[in-house]
Amino acid sequence: MAELTGRPAPFGIAADLWEILACPCPEHAPVRADEETGRIVCTSCGRSFEVRDGIPVMLLDEAIGPDGEAPSASVDG
Ligand SMILES: [Zn+2]
Repeated sequence: MAELTGRPAPFGIAADLWEILACPCPEHAPVRADEETGRIVCTSCGRSFEVRDGIPVMLLDEAIGPDGEAPSASVDG
């Protein structure tokens, strides 16, 4: 049975693209959408990637590490 999540294309990124998106880390692990932060998160290394204008920025240089080290991101609250 197919799963109906009701959100086939988070962040305006086509479902087809989600299928082929992978983290640039050595594991090339699949990624998931983190709707709390609006970022793309690797399921292996935990790095997160920005989405700019509906385009995922899958660059290790721009990624935030799993410990939350952020170059310029602000945290609400
Ligand atoms: Zn990764």
